[in-house]
Amino acid sequence: MTYDVIIAGGGPAGLSAAVYLGRFLRRTLVVDAGQGRSAFPQINENYLGFPRGVAARRLRELGRRQAVRFGVAFAEGSITAVRREARSGLFAVESGSGAWQARALILATGVTDIWPAFAGAHRYVGRSLFWCITCDGFRTRGQQVLLIGAADSAVTTACQFLRYTDRLTFLAVDSGCSPGGLRTLREHRIAVVEGAIERVEGARGLVRRVRAGGRWLETDLMFSLLGAVPNTAPAAQLGVLLDDTGYIRIDREQRTNVPCVYAAGDVTGPYAHQVTSAVHEGAMAAQAANYDLYEDFQQE
Ligand SMILES: Cc1cc2nc3c(=O)[nH]c(=O)nc-3n(C[C@H](O)[C@H](O)[C@H](O)COP(=O)(O)OP(=O)(O)OC[C@H]3O[C@@H](n4cnc5c(N)ncnc54)[C@H](O)[C@@H]3O)c2cc1C
Repeated sequence: MTYDVIIAGGGPAGLSAAVYLGRFLRRTLVVDAGQGRSAFPQINENYLGFPRGVAARRLRELGRRQAVRFGVAFAEGSITAVRREARSGLFAVESGSGAWQARALILATGVTDIWPAFAGAHRYVGRSLFWCITCDGFRTRGQQVLLIGAADSAVTTACQFLRYTDRLTFLAVDSGCSPGGLRTLREHRIAVVEGAIERVEGARGLVRRVRAGGRWLETDLMFSLLGAVPNTAPAAQLGVLLDDTGYIRIDREQRTNVPCVYAAGDVTGPYAHQVTSAVHEGAMAAQAANYDLYEDFQQE
């Protein structure tokens, strides 16, 4: 089966692109590994149109149903190989569940967060373990918060949390923070503990206390300030250029350096990792792809 567009990734960016492409009457397939940031149980409180918030997983489910209504097909699985065929100019895409061809590709593969290393950490993500002050700073008002960082960039974010709560402890892991950084934290009356997480106690994803640096820390919420790694394996196979930070380089309309390959969502840059931004970029990528696919459009 040859599609007009294959979308790698079924999070908010990929689903938004899918809805637009379906409505452009483009034969569209979403190949999705079913994980990513939008597959955790968090409630998105800042996405427009949901006064009581919307679960990230629910938003995915709704987006998928919306895309299916416009004729978009879905395949489960991780894309393992992708290349452009010299003779046909088509992209050949393979995953564990199948192989397909397409005239254009949208890469919406997101990022992989670095979560703190303790047994069962994933059970806490989206319930009492977060990473993003823009998304979840608001929920920390008056709470006892443990910030886990390994670099001075985390120190800056830690100080920004003071807007919401002064009950902050910074756990400096992996000796990555400079003495000056740790001094800045103490000057802002943020408690500093150095050492690894030894144990986490809680139930149903809700943390109660954390043992680190040889002491127990009462904790309502944890934030990992350890960063994330963009999922660029398919991009690398196509020769798509990355920027200095390792994210996919795009132009203002989500085009990459490879003709008919577009990128959208968290994978396109280290900032503005939001559902709103992902949905916007997905829609932009779909519009660029649709334009470029018109029969009278000639690629160089
Ligand atoms: C705990 C938590 C709380 C958050 N809270 C908020 C919030 O309140 N508000 C907000 O706006 N944002 C929030 N975010 C961020 C938001 O979830 C992301 O910005 C958003 O999901 C990005 O969408 P995306 O489509 O780019 O990536 P993702 O949602 O990560 O989706 C990427 C998809 O691509 C798939 N994929 C990756 N590689 C491949 C491959 N090789 N082949 C096939 N599929 C692949 C993944 O499995 C995944 O399904 C939160 C994130 C987390 C983790």
